[in-house]
Amino acid sequence: MANGGTLSLRTTGKAVAFRAPRGTELARTNDRIVAPRTRREVEAIAEQVRLDLDLGLTGRVAMLPILEHALYDVIDGYDFQVEEDTVMGRLEGLTDTQRPIIKLRNSVYLALERGDGRSRFTAAHEFGHLMLHCGLPTYRAFSDEYQPLHDPERQANIFAAAFLMPRQAFLACRTVKEAMAKFGVSQDAVSCRARILRHRLEPTRPILTVVKKKGASLRRPPS
Ligand SMILES: [Zn+2]
Repeated sequence: MANGGTLSLRTTGKAVAFRAPRGTELARTNDRIVAPRTRREVEAIAEQVRLDLDLGLTGRVAMLPILEHALYDVIDGYDFQVEEDTVMGRLEGLTDTQRPIIKLRNSVYLALERGDGRSRFTAAHEFGHLMLHCGLPTYRAFSDEYQPLHDPERQANIFAAAFLMPRQAFLACRTVKEAMAKFGVSQDAVSCRARILRHRLEPTRPILTVVKKKGASLRRPPS
C-alpha cells in the first residue's frame, strides 16, 4: 500500500484504519506480530467490510464470488490464486502480506465450491489477513510473552467468525443446526462463536430418540 497504513475498499474509499504501533509495544518470540487490535475492533471492521461489499449483516455470504470477483473490483492490484496442494505444503491458505494476494490450496478451493463450512472459514480467515494486515508492517517479537492483541492469526480468526456470522444475526439463532445452515459454517465454528458471545444454543439433537427396552429389538425377527 502506498501509505503503508490502510487497505481501502475502492468503491467506498473507506479504509480499514491502522495506527502504526510503537516498537516497544510488541512482543512474541519467533513469531510475526502486528499492531494490536481488540476483539471489538476486529468485529467492527468485519461488519463494516460486509456493509461495504453490500452483503448486509444477516445471512450467509458466498466466499468464492468475493475472492474470485468482487475483490478485483474494489482492491487495487488484488489477485486470487489456487495452488497445488504439494506446493502449499501444510498451508490451507496464504495471504501475501506485501501485496493483496490470497492463495488457497486446490483441495480447499474444491471444497469451497461445494460450500464446505471449514473451507469457508479458511477463505474468510485469509480475507481477514488481507483486510487487516496486507501492506502493513509486521514485526519479529522479542519476548516470549504471548500478547493476544498482537497476534495476526487470532485477529484473522476473529475477523472470519464475525464476517461469516455477524453478531446480531447470530444471537437470533436458537439452535446449533439453525446457525450452521444460516451461515454455512461448521459445528465447531458455531460452538466457538456461541461461547465467545455467551449465547446459549440448543444442541443438535436427533429427530427420534429411541428408548430401547431391555431385550426388545426394533428389527423384525427373522421368520
Ligand atoms: Zn492466518
